[in-house]
Amino acid sequence: MTDGVRRGRLGAAWSRCATAMGVSEACPRLVLVTAAVGLLATGAVVAGLLWPVASTDVTPPLPVRFAIVAGLAALAQLARLRLKVGSGMVSVAWGEAAVIVGLYLVPAGWLPAAEALGALAALLLLSRYAERRNPFETARGVASLTLGAATAAAVTAAISDPFGSRLTPSLAFALVLGCVMYLAVTTGLVALGVSLRYPVPFLSGLARTLQAKLLMFVGNVGVGLLIIVMLESDARWLVLLPPLLWLLQQTYGQRLRADGERRSWQAFAQATRSLNQLDERGVAAAGLQGTFALFAASEAEIEVIRADGATRRYASAAGGDVVERDSPGPSAEPEPVTRPLSVGGVRLGELRVRFEQPPGDRDEVALSAFADALSAALHDAATHRELRIMAARSSYDAVHDPLTGLVNRAALLARGDSALRMLDREHPVALLLLDVDQFKEVNDTLGHAAGDELLQVIAARLGALAKPGELLSRLGGDEFALLVTSLPPLGEQTALRTRQPTLRQALRRARQIVEHLAAPTEVAGVQLSVEASVGVAVAPAGAADMTELLRRADVAMYQAKDGGGSVAWYDTARDAASTDQLALLAEMREALAVDDQLDLVLQPAVDLVTGAPTGVEALIRWRHPRRGVLAPLDFVRTVEGSELLAPFTRYVIDKALAVAAEWAAHGLQLPIAVNLSARSLLDPRLPADVAELLRRHRIPPNGLVLEITETVVMSELDVIDEVLAGLRAVGVQLAVDDFGTGFSSLTFLTRITVDELKIDREFVAKMVDSPQAAAIVRTTVDLGRELGLRVVAEGVETADQREALTAIGCRAAQGFHFFKPMPPDRITGVLRTLLAAQPNVFPLRADGAS
Ligand code: C2E
Ligand code: CA
Ligand code: CA
Repeated sequence: MTDGVRRGRLGAAWSRCATAMGVSEACPRLVLVTAAVGLLATGAVVAGLLWPVASTDVTPPLPVRFAIVAGLAALAQLARLRLKVGSGMVSVAWGEAAVIVGLYLVPAGWLPAAEALGALAALLLLSRYAERRNPFETARGVASLTLGAATAAAVTAAISDPFGSRLTPSLAFALVLGCVMYLAVTTGLVALGVSLRYPVPFLSGLARTLQAKLLMFVGNVGVGLLIIVMLESDARWLVLLPPLLWLLQQTYGQRLRADGERRSWQAFAQATRSLNQLDERGVAAAGLQGTFALFAASEAEIEVIRADGATRRYASAAGGDVVERDSPGPSAEPEPVTRPLSVGGVRLGELRVRFEQPPGDRDEVALSAFADALSAALHDAATHRELRIMAARSSYDAVHDPLTGLVNRAALLARGDSALRMLDREHPVALLLLDVDQFKEVNDTLGHAAGDELLQVIAARLGALAKPGELLSRLGGDEFALLVTSLPPLGEQTALRTRQPTLRQALRRARQIVEHLAAPTEVAGVQLSVEASVGVAVAPAGAADMTELLRRADVAMYQAKDGGGSVAWYDTARDAASTDQLALLAEMREALAVDDQLDLVLQPAVDLVTGAPTGVEALIRWRHPRRGVLAPLDFVRTVEGSELLAPFTRYVIDKALAVAAEWAAHGLQLPIAVNLSARSLLDPRLPADVAELLRRHRIPPNGLVLEITETVVMSELDVIDEVLAGLRAVGVQLAVDDFGTGFSSLTFLTRITVDELKIDREFVAKMVDSPQAAAIVRTTVDLGRELGLRVVAEGVETADQREALTAIGCRAAQGFHFFKPMPPDRITGVLRTLLAAQPNVFPLRADGAS
């Protein structure tokens, strides 16, 4: 036989043996402790028996005495009372009385052996007839009692050997001390065992056991000493002993029961209180924990039947973790005691408890009461769970479209707005609004079910096209929206320009969607190709909220439908006539009143030869509280069409003159240019108002340049000639803005004397590459020279353009190449620096005449 095989067989034999003994059920540390105690106890028995005995000549003879002592030790254990500590049971017995009498009757060294024999006999009897106890537990009990007796014998004998002595106070003291040691060792080992097997801390188990035992200890010691006194005076007194012991035993029992009762009610209250949880698992875990706290149980399981009929089982062994399982646990002995869990006749599950000892009447009643409390808690948890599910479902329903599962309009607005807020203000976003063409026909001819099916197909296709982070929504009916936030931000360019490449990309996405949807699909047995119109609105994240984006995309979508193309983008100009105007005007009225929303930015024009500033143009910006910063393009046309134009124009002139006055105060004298809407020229009061503003700010009239873009409208009206003449009379300078783009630029020049021509930036932008554009610029420069007018080239962005202009003989220019429009507080410094190099390049005349 090889070693391995032998070890294998030995191993199997050992494990069979261990199972039979009950060792395998105990925890490894408990086995170790028991082995150590067993060794010590055996050592003590052997050493005690080998210890020399002083005198053996006694009556009755020593063997008889030994038998009596062993018998007493057995009796002391048999008359034990049991009490619960946590989920374990501990017993209190008459041990100390037996120890005292034993020490008196036999040599101290014999006591451990007598105790071992007596305890073994008693525990075997008890486990056979009264308590469920496996051999391992019996061995543990015998070993600890023997060790206790050995310690008592050693301590007592060391002080004063009681064998064959008369009872003196010092001997009594030695005996009491021995008993204290016996108590300490036995209770200590019991508490240690409990703490290793159950979730009861060692010290609290020890305190609990000692407390329960204290009264009995005092009684036991008293009885032990009394027996000695009786034996010394007259052994016949012993007749009186049985009734006395019976009385004492009753008292102990009473006391322990009362104590236990109080404790178990406390524990019960505590256990039911902790059932107060909101979730099923929490209740089940507390239920299992409570079961172990209340009953001497080895295992417990709570089966929960949910409202949908599904069952769930939560199980735990004493001191172990809660495990969840779907199927019943392995069946084991003994059969569990069960209690149905139900509330108002509705079955909620079952509580199953495997008791260590067959449960008493009290346990049965308490278990029923605990099951009732557990039922109520489980019912509450189930109700709460229903509520939670309902709340979650209704909040899901509140934001989702039930047909497609996409978020609905309300959610698109809310989530979209928070997405916009999280982005950088300048980060471009696009909203694509899609409307299915002829959806109504699908509904009418194929039925609503087919319509629904088609919408689901569309939702699925859109979902496949949406990228992570994009927000896809069904707005209702056949309208869908996609919020695209991943467009690449672009660097330093004007708001208008920023939108161009971004817009191109957004339009590409829109066309891609249209193409993807056009792929044929079968609905209700009919091959269909979905045609859709998409409106695209692009804006910096800080410039519009979702409501506004949706409105713009809607405008664009209708343009797409009207125009016959499948995709259209939102254009402010085209939208100017839309309903938004009214809102915008109301907001403008407020902005004109509050004074902190409309700001000017200023852009200098420079002399191309000397680099000195020739003038500064004021450009309006609207820091709209909700829509973000708006460029003139976004609102000027709307204002122009309303009665707000006059107050707006005066507001801008007023602000510009205030800036000029500020410069004048610092010794800077430069004309400031203000853009005038052509429609302002229809306002006969304008010249007088301008004159009044100039006076108020103490600015010489030629310090103000009014830039006018000529349009078709203005051409024929007499009032325009009057207003223009009036302005000239006031003495302000006039400039033709965007020269070359108007309908009758040259005619305009014949009607009114102007001071300046501003070449439109479209020509400047093209002049390097386009000979035609270059020719127009050159002609304008020549014309200016002929008529004695200043010519300013606008929108100069590159050094090439600047050189081309210089070559042509253009004197002044304006554009990003030199300066971007900047806030008033910055421009003062810039002008100072420029003028410091060349003072008075463009002096103003103090008399104000032109
Ligand atoms: P505009 O009179 O032609 O003003 C010049 C516009 O070109 C400004 O745009 C300016 O920021 C921009 N710009 C300047 N340099 C460059 C450049 O190098 N490249 C490019 N691409 N653009 C450049 P802004 O401020 O958006 O104004 C647009 C238009 O709105 C103005 O065109 C003007 O017609 C009108 N506007 C501006 N302020 C007012 C105002 O207070 N009242 C009225 N009625 N119209 C105004
Ligand atoms: Ca201008
Ligand atoms: Ca212009």
